[in-house]
Amino acid sequence: MPSLVNNDMLSIKIHARYLILSMMFMGWLLAINSLFAPWATQIKSPNPSVEKTLLHNPSQNIISNDINDCSLNTDASICRFIWNKVHFSDLKYVPLNLKAVKWDYLTSSKPSKLGKEALDSLISMSKAFHKEFSKPIFVVSSYRDYAYQAGIKSRWCPDSLCAKAWFSEHQTGLAVDLFEASTEKDFLDNKEHSSYFTWLDAHAAEYGFHNSYQKWAKIDWYDREPWHWRYLWAELATKLEKENESFTQYYYRKIKSR
Ligand SMILES: [Zn+2]
Repeated sequence: MPSLVNNDMLSIKIHARYLILSMMFMGWLLAINSLFAPWATQIKSPNPSVEKTLLHNPSQNIISNDINDCSLNTDASICRFIWNKVHFSDLKYVPLNLKAVKWDYLTSSKPSKLGKEALDSLISMSKAFHKEFSKPIFVVSSYRDYAYQAGIKSRWCPDSLCAKAWFSEHQTGLAVDLFEASTEKDFLDNKEHSSYFTWLDAHAAEYGFHNSYQKWAKIDWYDREPWHWRYLWAELATKLEKENESFTQYYYRKIKSR
């Protein structure tokens, strides 16, 4: 029996030693984790409260944000603007707030998606358009993902009219092509389209839409596209209209003034 007592004591001592070692190991793991956690959190999921603030008033943040902020962690990043030499940091970038387009106040030949704010504004604009022309706005194209744009490029579209996949404003979920056309002449020679464009030119900025490609390829990198409108929120779209500046010019000015 005494030997059993001794064995029990030995066993308790061994267990205690394991327990202390386990606790030390756990403590060490926790310390390591707390050292690396802040970076891990930043990379994997942006601070939701920051994102909420940015999305609350995105145009203000587009104007004031550092041009270097190309993280795309929020949909308010200026790097949602892209052109021939700037592409998304993520090839598979999908906007956070895509919504299926409902055709109550818009018409189209196919199902489509658009960022929520852009879609809400487009619907408001289409209601105003309807008052003038007794018909809703016709959407030819809206959100296009990387694969879709790659498909377009592989078929027929020249670089002067269609962005390469990974570079298209349509991948932002903010751009729409309105009314069917393939060249500026084709669009403006059509009396109906021409009157639609005159109306859009006068009113689109109120609804946050900007004609991205209006100053020819030397400035905007693409031929003029009277059908292509990009949502920039009303504050920035109105500012650009007043200053007769395309978004590309604005973007360069921001880069130069850094
Ligand atoms: Zn377009």
